[in-house]
Amino acid sequence: MKFERRDILLIVGLLLFMIGLIPFMAPVYAAIIVILMYFGIKVYVGKRKQSIEKDVGEGICMECGSQVFNKKCPNCDYSKE
Ligand SMILES: [Zn+2]
Repeated sequence: MKFERRDILLIVGLLLFMIGLIPFMAPVYAAIIVILMYFGIKVYVGKRKQSIEKDVGEGICMECGSQVFNKKCPNCDYSKE
């Protein structure tokens, strides 16, 4: 998982949310809920990013038109960088 600036905003938002939860429950439970939310969001965002990348792909091979994977065409080019 890469750490991005967006993550800081997410953490700040979740910390504020945790502070908001503390009057209603023990701080430990509030922290657990917030940590679970954080990982849930990270996994969700990561999966969505992955599926977008899958849809877009890395481009199309100029030779055969199939999708380029890892900068290589699975059909005809295993040496292209
Ligand atoms: Zn090809």
